[in-house]
Amino acid sequence: MQAGVNVKAIIDAAPSIGGYWVHASKVARLGVPILTSYTVKAAYPNKMTGALERAVIWKVDDKWQPIPGTEKVFNVDVMCIAVGLTPLAEILWQAGCKMKYVPELGGHVPVRNENMETTVSGIYVAGDVAGVEEASSAMMEGRLAGLSAAKSLGYDDGTYEEKKAEALKELENMRSGPVGEKIRKGLAQLAS
Ligand SMILES: Cc1cc2nc3c(=O)[nH]c(=O)nc-3n(C[C@H](O)[C@H](O)[C@H](O)COP(=O)(O)OP(=O)(O)OC[C@H]3O[C@@H](n4cnc5c(N)ncnc54)[C@H](O)[C@@H]3O)c2cc1C
Repeated sequence: MQAGVNVKAIIDAAPSIGGYWVHASKVARLGVPILTSYTVKAAYPNKMTGALERAVIWKVDDKWQPIPGTEKVFNVDVMCIAVGLTPLAEILWQAGCKMKYVPELGGHVPVRNENMETTVSGIYVAGDVAGVEEASSAMMEGRLAGLSAAKSLGYDDGTYEEKKAEALKELENMRSGPVGEKIRKGLAQLAS
């Protein structure tokens, strides 16, 4: 919308908004309807150009089955499909890091210790590659990984333990409450 696109609707087959409310509210304030329990039934091209011209959506029931008669038609020329975020972790596979499938963190993520060091000595991770989360925790994990990498190379001005404890505390705070529940569940699986 910032780029001038006229957004007709956001639809989601899930019965409620799964993303952050701050984003949903922003979109809603701009007048874009968010239609939950809807999925795409059909997309029709322009007969001359072959480009998308019309999309038909319909409601799904609690078993995600479409409900005939609930169709809505939108005249649109673009349909964006978002199916979630996954860590781009190939480079860690290649490096031989032990990986674990943790759906709550977005898929396959590297097993690592408290210092963010993977099972391959000297390879540290932080941010979405370690588990899809958000920017502040990515930065804090980066701080922790950086501190630990420096320490392992012999750089410690005597404040390492204090700074590490601060970073761990910050991460704990960010992941507290209901918003962080999914991440906490994911991280618990890495520890086991
Ligand atoms: C649409 C969207 C909206 C978001 N909104 C928010 C928000 O409002 N608030 C919030 O806190 N978080 C938000 N996030 C999440 C946040 O953007 C990420 O959690 C954060 O950017 C993760 O940081 P990162 O450094 O781990 O990864 P990234 O920011 O993705 O950085 C990784 C970088 O590595 C580069 N890269 C990849 N492979 C290679 C390679 N082989 N060689 C060199 N470079 C490479 C990529 O190009 C990229 O620049 C949003 C994410 C999305 C997708």
